[in-house]
Amino acid sequence: MSDSVAVVGAGPVGLAAALAAHSLGLEPVLLEAGARTARRPGSRAIFIHRATLDRLERIRPGLSAEISGQGLVWDTKRTLWAGRQVHLRTYPTTAATAPFSSLPQTVVEDVLRRACDEAGIRSVWGDPVADVDSGAAGVRLRTRSGGVYEAGHVIAADGSRSTVRERVGIALRGSTSETEFVVIDVADGPVRAPAERIFHYRHPGVAGRNVLLVPFRGGWRVDVQCRPGDDAARLVANAPRWLPRVLPQVPDPEITWSSVYRFQQRLADRFADASGRVLLAGEAAHLLPPFGARGMNSGISDAVAAATAVREGTVADYARARQEAAEGNIRAAGAALDHLLAVRPAQRGRQWAAAALSPLWPKAGHWLDAAPYGPRIRKLTY
Ligand SMILES: Cc1cc2nc3c(=O)[nH]c(=O)nc-3n(C[C@H](O)[C@H](O)[C@H](O)COP(=O)(O)OP(=O)(O)OC[C@H]3O[C@@H](n4cnc5c(N)ncnc54)[C@H](O)[C@@H]3O)c2cc1C
Repeated sequence: MSDSVAVVGAGPVGLAAALAAHSLGLEPVLLEAGARTARRPGSRAIFIHRATLDRLERIRPGLSAEISGQGLVWDTKRTLWAGRQVHLRTYPTTAATAPFSSLPQTVVEDVLRRACDEAGIRSVWGDPVADVDSGAAGVRLRTRSGGVYEAGHVIAADGSRSTVRERVGIALRGSTSETEFVVIDVADGPVRAPAERIFHYRHPGVAGRNVLLVPFRGGWRVDVQCRPGDDAARLVANAPRWLPRVLPQVPDPEITWSSVYRFQQRLADRFADASGRVLLAGEAAHLLPPFGARGMNSGISDAVAAATAVREGTVADYARARQEAAEGNIRAAGAALDHLLAVRPAQRGRQWAAAALSPLWPKAGHWLDAAPYGPRIRKLTY
């Protein structure tokens, strides 16, 4: 039993954990609450970093090309202030050299599921884990239908409402933004518009709200920051009226998904339970605002590190290192959120000043372009 590992949750993090465990010679079993054929709506993560692709490639050769082959790369970043361009950067890039790939999380999950099947990883679908008994000798999991699984270790990748985390008594603490964000996916039009990432401060087409437009393979993500007092549901209902003003690239935009979020910054008290047998990974351990695209990306880092720690018997090191990484990610994504909310008059003043100076001083425009994503990813071990 001591070498066996059960992975709970077949989201991107659980799937990556099962593949990583398999690549290390462990024999994982993957336990998922949803049906094998179920697909969660919405594209959620649409940005996978090169470092994550490289990590996946190391655990299963071919995965990086398979994922990035279905993704999109843009070579232009643009930022506007009240309709006036304050920053433009284009850089030559190709799918092979780009530092990222942009595609729906559902596609990444499909590729990872297929890879798990091809690797012969045992998986059980449609039966949520309901109880966890963890001790020095190992872990016993019970599912809702009465199934019992025993394993030396459990990697809990069962998402933000993790049953495993709750059963082993680890709290998730932090805060939720008061401001709501409307997130809408729009399908590509008949002709693919040039792929550019565009950030608008105070977009005149939506009464001065901040708007982020991100292209991904198959569509566009439109992210609108509500203002205090906004009725977010009404903003969503009215989207067919204002979308053509913010996304003129796509005539007659077809909405494929919409949702309203309050972004969370939450961290588990510990990343492993007292017995060192249960390791938390991904959203079971940390929740971040999406700015900087650290959620799924850092979750896949957790997954690979967790499987390695089980193999090498270094669970305590895992728990310490990944908690530190998550703290860094929460700080970085929190800094981006702070910038966007600009609650303090000094922050708003700096942004106004940068917008005014940008025609003369390109660094000011560059700062306005970069700040909504938090510090550069390479400065952190995300
Ligand atoms: C609008 C939006 C945009 C985002 N953009 C990005 C981005 O660009 N880049 C990025 O890196 N991240 C992004 N994220 C975050 C990313 O979507 C999450 O970090 C990622 O889904 C977390 O994966 P996970 O596997 O930890 O959890 P989940 O995806 O939630 O998967 C958990 C799995 O566990 C299963 N489960 C739950 N309970 C049980 C149980 N009791 N037993 C068995 N199984 C169970 C669930 O059914 C599910 O399949 C974004 C999120 C949102 C909402």
